[in-house]
Amino acid sequence: MSHTNFIKTKDENIDSMIKKILNIKDSNISFPKNAVSKERVKGRLSTVFTGKLTYKPSHCEHCGCPEVNRHSFKDSWIQLLPYQEVPTYLHLYKQRFYCKKCHLTFSAKTYYVAENCYLAQSLKFAIAIDLKKKISMKDIASRYFVSSKTTERVLDSFFKEPCHNLNYLPKHLLIDEFKGTTDCEGAMCFIISDADTGKIFDILDDRRNYKLERYFMRFSFKARRKVSHIVMDMNAAYGVVTKRVFPHARISIDRFHVVQQLTRALNKQRIKAMNQLKKSDSEAMKNYRKFKKYWRTLLKKNSKLNYFILKQYPLFQKRYLTESDVIDHLMTVDESFKSCYEIYQELLDYFDKRDYQSFFDCLTHLETSLPKDFKKDLLYLQKHQKEIINAFIYPYSNGKLEGKNNLIKVIKRIAFGFRTFRHLRMRVLIQQNICQII
Ligand SMILES: [Zn+2]
Repeated sequence: MSHTNFIKTKDENIDSMIKKILNIKDSNISFPKNAVSKERVKGRLSTVFTGKLTYKPSHCEHCGCPEVNRHSFKDSWIQLLPYQEVPTYLHLYKQRFYCKKCHLTFSAKTYYVAENCYLAQSLKFAIAIDLKKKISMKDIASRYFVSSKTTERVLDSFFKEPCHNLNYLPKHLLIDEFKGTTDCEGAMCFIISDADTGKIFDILDDRRNYKLERYFMRFSFKARRKVSHIVMDMNAAYGVVTKRVFPHARISIDRFHVVQQLTRALNKQRIKAMNQLKKSDSEAMKNYRKFKKYWRTLLKKNSKLNYFILKQYPLFQKRYLTESDVIDHLMTVDESFKSCYEIYQELLDYFDKRDYQSFFDCLTHLETSLPKDFKKDLLYLQKHQKEIINAFIYPYSNGKLEGKNNLIKVIKRIAFGFRTFRHLRMRVLIQQNICQII
C-alpha cells in the first residue's frame, strides 16, 4: 500500500490541531501533514481526516502471549459529526498485529469508535440526544447524513425498553386509544397515563380486552388494588376488564366525551333541518346557508353567547346583529330543531353546574314529541349513568390525556417514518423521560 506511506510520519502541529477539532484524546491516534482532504464518500463530497492508530500491545488478544509483531495497516471509514454541514469522515488506518505463538492477527483498538462500528461515539450520542426532541427520524437521519435504519439502531442501542416497577401503578388512571403504526396487531393502540401528572405511563399496540388484561395482570395485586379512579371514553368497552383488574377502581366517563355526545346529537338534528329546507326555494336556501354557516354559534352554551356586541352578518343582508339575534332567527325556522336546541341547552347548563340529579331527570322526562333519533342519542347517556355521575363529581378529566394524544399525533406526524410500533413507543417514552439513555 504505497499511498499509506504519508500517514506514517506524524506532523506535531497538524496532529494536535486535528485532535482538538475532533476531540480525540487517544494518543495512539496520530495525523500526518496532509491529513485533511475533500473526497467523495458514498457519492457525497465529504471532509476526510486521515490518520493512523498504532501502539505496542502488551499481549496477544487470542492467546495472551506477549510476543506480538506489528503487521500491516487496515483502513476503516468512521463517520463523524458533520462539520460545517458537510459529511465528515475519519479515514483511520488501524495497525494489525501478528502473534508469533498462535499465528493469528488482530487490530488496534480505540475508545473513539466502538469495534466493528463505522459511526463515531459522538455521532451516535448526538443522534440519541435528537431522539429526545420533536424531530422526525427522517430529519435526524438527513441532518447527520446517515440512513433512517441507522437512527433506528441508535434508538435501540442507546435506550433500554422501560421496565416498569410491577409494584406501582398511578392511583388515578386515564385510558384512551389512538391509531398506531401499520405493524400493530390490533387496529387501535392503547394509552395509559397518570391522571394527576398527565404523564404518559405506557402505550400498548393492542387495545383488545385479553391483551389489556394480560398487561395489567403483570402488576402486583397490591399495585392494582391501589388504583382508585379510571377515566375513559364513553363508547370504550373497557368496563369489564377494568373491573376485573382493578377491583377498587371507580370508573368515570371523560367529561369531554359527555359534552361531545350532546353536541353530536344536536349537530345531527341541524343537518336534518338543513336537508328539509327545500333547495329549490330561494328563501329556504338562505336559511339552509345560515344553518350551515352558524353551526358553531348553535353549539355554544347560552351563557357564552354574546348578547351585546353587534357584528355585521353577511347572510343577514349585512345587518348588524348580536349572536343571540342570529340564534333567535334560526329558532323560527324549524320547530322540531328548536325543541332539540332547548333540551341541549338545558342539559349543558346542568352539566356546567354539576347538577347530575337534574341532568338525568331531564333525560328521563324527555318529551314524546322530540325526534326519535335525537332522543336515542341522548338516552345513550343513561346507559353510563353511574360513570357519568362520577364525572360530575370527581375532578379527573381526560383533558390532560387528550393533550398527550395530541403529543402522540405530533410525534406520529413528524415521524411517519416509524416502521414499527416498538420504535414509536420508545420515542414517546423517551420524550416523557421514562426511557433513559443507557
Ligand atoms: Zn497469540
